[in-house]
Amino acid sequence: MTGLAEAIVDLDAIAHNTRLLAEAVGNAQLMAVVKANGFGHGATAIARTALAGGASWLGVTSLSEALELRAQGITAPLLMWLYAPDEDLARATEHDIDVSVSSVAALEKLAAGRPANVHLKADTGLSRAGATADEWPHLITAAARLQDRGRVRVRGIWSHLAHAENPADPALRRQLDAFADARAQAAAGGVVAPLTHLANSAAALQLPATHFDLVRAGIALYGIEPVTGREFGLRPAMTLRATVILTKRVPAGSGVSYGPDHVTDRETTLALVPVGFADGVPRAAAGRAEVNVRGINCPVIGRIAMDQIVVDVGSLPVRAGDAVTVFGPGAAGEPTVADWARWAGTNPHEILTGVGPRVPRRYEGQTGPSSVQVTPRLRQRQNGWPTGSV
Ligand SMILES: *Cc1c(COP(=O)(O)O)cnc(C)c1O
Repeated sequence: MTGLAEAIVDLDAIAHNTRLLAEAVGNAQLMAVVKANGFGHGATAIARTALAGGASWLGVTSLSEALELRAQGITAPLLMWLYAPDEDLARATEHDIDVSVSSVAALEKLAAGRPANVHLKADTGLSRAGATADEWPHLITAAARLQDRGRVRVRGIWSHLAHAENPADPALRRQLDAFADARAQAAAGGVVAPLTHLANSAAALQLPATHFDLVRAGIALYGIEPVTGREFGLRPAMTLRATVILTKRVPAGSGVSYGPDHVTDRETTLALVPVGFADGVPRAAAGRAEVNVRGINCPVIGRIAMDQIVVDVGSLPVRAGDAVTVFGPGAAGEPTVADWARWAGTNPHEILTGVGPRVPRRYEGQTGPSSVQVTPRLRQRQNGWPTGSV
């Protein structure tokens, strides 16, 4: 590799995970959730790969994420679910983007423009978005009225699970019951949507009763096993690599990185690796984290800084220019995203989405090796340098 660090995204793994999910959900359609820049992997590349591999829908959080996919020429059905009260949702309709609706106010605002495709969201126990059981009848009444007048098209009725990891959790049963009630009320109120959807990754893989017409898969698409203690054969897609930029031999008693946290207890070799918390290496993992150098997992010592970490490589013959795997699929024993999540006391989602914008994403597999994709700001700077300058 060239440069300080890169995130290699294995599109064959994304394709594999898409196929595995599509098989698991049988007749239901699959929505690839590509919010937050495709969980840090790059939304456009993931969207294209997932659509080629069997997904038929895309899901994002925001209007800007949705518009970016449309700007890249992606025409697949697309749902967005969060927006501010003053957001210009006419732009969503213009670009054929379906919009989640949790309130009568939002529905009426959407109905004022060109007929929008909406997915009515019921809050069945997460207490985030979605209409509560009290609000739902009003939302249904308004939707029936506006649909009859041709002002909106109700394409979906949906909700989101809080407890899909544990099939025996009574809270899951309560959510399923609440969702059944919401659907029955919609039908009784004359709102029949072609799509009912509820499942996330964990539910897609282990709860067939939640599949309905469409499942929304995020984390599993990226190869992270969504259910603790169960293996479904997913393949992690992202490898975070960096280059050793300096090594040094230090005596026992050398302080390492900021503060008093680490002092060497023997003579050893330290390797300087230019990734830090701005790149997604979580500061909270200090004292536990390891990275793989020359096939060996070596401890990250001292505090994790914004831009760099120090690795104790002992007596390994490590040299500047050597590749370091911060995390990868784990097949060669290197740390995984799940390891980093454990070390940092967080979930794999936060590790993946934390990989910073200055880390270029490089895509492998599927369409063959591709050029390094740099963030727009970096590309601008690179283009700003006269050719041949150093
Ligand atoms: C993020 C998200 C998903 C994907 O969840 P995973 O557990 O990552 O599969 C599905 N639905 C909604 C509404 C989401 O916000």
